Amino acid sequence: DKVKIDSFVKGYIDTFKIKYPHFKLDYSLDKDAKFFYTDTVLLGSVFQNLIENAYKYSHPDRKELFIDIALEKRNIIFSFIDKGIGIPKNELNNIFRKFYRLENQYNQNGSVGLGLAFCKELVNFMDGDITVRSKVDVGSEFIVTLPYAN
Ligand code: ATP
Ligand code: MG
Repeated sequence: DKVKIDSFVKGYIDTFKIKYPHFKLDYSLDKDAKFFYTDTVLLGSVFQNLIENAYKYSHPDRKELFIDIALEKRNIIFSFIDKGIGIPKNELNNIFRKFYRLENQYNQNGSVGLGLAFCKELVNFMDGDITVRSKVDVGSEFIVTLPYAN
């Protein structure tokens, strides 16, 4: 689908603001990033999972996520930057494994540990990559890189 990037991202932000009224969500978009060919269901699933995680794994009064969208060479880069609980360095690779979850107070019943594994599959399927940087008690940044053609 040919997607208007601005509306696509704004759609998720608005939906989550309604779902979680005290979730602070914002984004910035490279001024040259207007349209983008992608599968909205697949990419949407990645957005859902990453936004849901940012909300889930943060202190009740630090529920904040900033989505930065940048163009670089032939890639479009979506960075999901939260102010959550962070992830210990030695766990950064594990969190993308199926059914892998970390012990923390924000663990909820119903979460199975498939979200990030699925995101990785989807992003790889679209010829992209997902990486993470994080600092415990400061926050995490999930970086989704996808080939860009407009
Ligand atoms: P599911 O997504 O299947 O409902 P889940 O959220 O536990 O379950 P993943 O989304 O795969 O599973 O995440 C794996 C683990 O990585 C989580 O249990 C959590 O401990 C950690 N994690 C994921 N996202 C974040 C984040 N933004 N900040 C801190 N920890 C995170
Ligand atoms: Mg999850």
